[in-house]
Amino acid sequence: MISVKNLSKTFPDGTQALKNVSVEIPDGDFIAIIGLSGAGKSTFLRCLNRLNNPSQGQIVVNGQNIVSLRGRNLQKYRRTVGFIFQQFNLVTRLSVLDNVLSGRLGYHPTWQGMLGLFNDEDKQLAKNNIKKVGLEEKELTRVDSLSGGQQQRVAIARAMTQKPQLILADEPMASLDPRLSDVILGLLKDYNEEQGVTVLVNIHVLELAKRYAKRVLAFNKGELVFDGPVTALDSALEEDIYSGSLEAL
Ligand code: ADP
Repeated sequence: MISVKNLSKTFPDGTQALKNVSVEIPDGDFIAIIGLSGAGKSTFLRCLNRLNNPSQGQIVVNGQNIVSLRGRNLQKYRRTVGFIFQQFNLVTRLSVLDNVLSGRLGYHPTWQGMLGLFNDEDKQLAKNNIKKVGLEEKELTRVDSLSGGQQQRVAIARAMTQKPQLILADEPMASLDPRLSDVILGLLKDYNEEQGVTVLVNIHVLELAKRYAKRVLAFNKGELVFDGPVTALDSALEEDIYSGSLEAL
């Protein structure tokens, strides 16, 4: 369960990216976050993983306010959150298997991780997840020789290998051919349904949000302006979301 209360983020240059956002997210939800570019979607996800530090407010994840976490406690929290970036964020000169195994790094002392000392259980988990994303033939291939779509599948397998309680995906198909969107969102949706892991995805293509999510959060200029079932989205509401005519929740 994630409970966000009065979350605000102002960047040092004065940009107010999030304004007083409050939302409750039960375990196992698959949520699409929509809104124009610059609306605050990415900042919201990054605050949930503390890649951005909130300026105000609380983010309580399973009873723990993660806003004040530091050092080892922050590292411990982060290993339970898989983050999928637009640009994959892989180590491109390493193999698929090594990248996916790096999902286990947060679970071992740094020196073990640096030496690549993963146990058999880690390796089996990594291999199973590589298979899940359909890359078993590519296990030992260097990531820089893969296509963009394949690289994003590696990033998804890496996130799964963290055994996360939460997956955050920041427009994971934005830098890919649109035809690949269904592959990427399908993998996240299957994982959500199989494992009951909460998934939040920023999706700027409304049609995709409608196809995959049950619940939608919409941002406009840093404010949460809609939180409801995807079935409530009709053209009038969509117009209101994007034009900024809705009151903040
Ligand atoms: P979205 O994901 O909806 O496109 P973002 O969360 O990336 O929106 O951005 C929200 C606002 O915060 C935008 O005005 C953006 O320019 C600004 N912003 C994002 N990151 C930074 C940063 N590091 N420093 C200053 N402003 C930022």
